[in-house]
Amino acid sequence: MNNIDIPKIKYLEGRKRTTELVCVPGKAPFIRFTPFSNNMNSTSDNAGLPYGNGACDFVIHGFSTRLGGVSEGIFSSMNFACGRGDDPKKILENFRIMGDSLGVSPESMVYAKQTHTANVMHVNEYHKGMGVTRERDYTDIDALITDTPGVCLVAGFADCIPVFFIDVVKKAIGLAHSGWRGTVNDIAGAAVHAMENDFCTNAKDIRAFVGPGICAEHYEVGNDVADEFKKKYPDAIEKGILRRKPGNGEMAEEKYYLDLQLACRENLINAGVPEDSVFLTDLCTCCNPELLHSHRYTKGQRGGLCGFLMIK
Ligand SMILES: [Zn+2]
Repeated sequence: MNNIDIPKIKYLEGRKRTTELVCVPGKAPFIRFTPFSNNMNSTSDNAGLPYGNGACDFVIHGFSTRLGGVSEGIFSSMNFACGRGDDPKKILENFRIMGDSLGVSPESMVYAKQTHTANVMHVNEYHKGMGVTRERDYTDIDALITDTPGVCLVAGFADCIPVFFIDVVKKAIGLAHSGWRGTVNDIAGAAVHAMENDFCTNAKDIRAFVGPGICAEHYEVGNDVADEFKKKYPDAIEKGILRRKPGNGEMAEEKYYLDLQLACRENLINAGVPEDSVFLTDLCTCCNPELLHSHRYTKGQRGGLCGFLMIK
């Protein structure tokens, strides 16, 4: 792989630094979350984490960027979105390249089949490769959970919010796709409850990361969506989940900015994950269109990113 130009990264204001771009010569770069990684750097403040540093060492995790793949044009160059016009052979090659960066083979990956539901699927050895190297036998699955080592959970994103779960005691994991519908329907909470049912997870043992996705400033929504969030979160305005757009005339429809990342955090806390164990990304997809695929920035002319999570 040739040298890759890394675009300047714009971090979200007022957030702690929780991501780092991992750049290894000859490999595709990827994003790592410092609350999950064992090499905590001085810019992140992870002191006082329950169960301490290194509690997530049994897991491999990562989030892709647009860099280091083989796709072209609007998909350039690391694309994992299927069915949007990119060559499936290139997508598979991108999985191989990203897998090589992470230390995960495409044959061990299981790719969610996301349709903005709140459906969670427990996957194991049987599902390995599905959606990546072979056909899926499932659909309408927006979150995956497993306690099987060597099964890599994969889900796709381009502004929607990825939520990563690690039960550091029972050694189980989950990965959810939380767009606005999934957030209002509490896919993150559904994933926690599925882990409680299937792995005897205690929610207080979960460390969760709300990953890169669209920021409130870039996510203007109309009354219809805002109303759904007001119903789900009665204190949405107070908590900053919804912010009224200023300057609306008397007659104009009210517009809002929606902070999906904060709403996901709220879902996790409501599901019993301790506040101190919920971490927020410092990256917005739409703020970083050269680094990350963004649906809104490109008006839908875009590829897709993936989150990866696996028990070693
Ligand atoms: Zn943004």
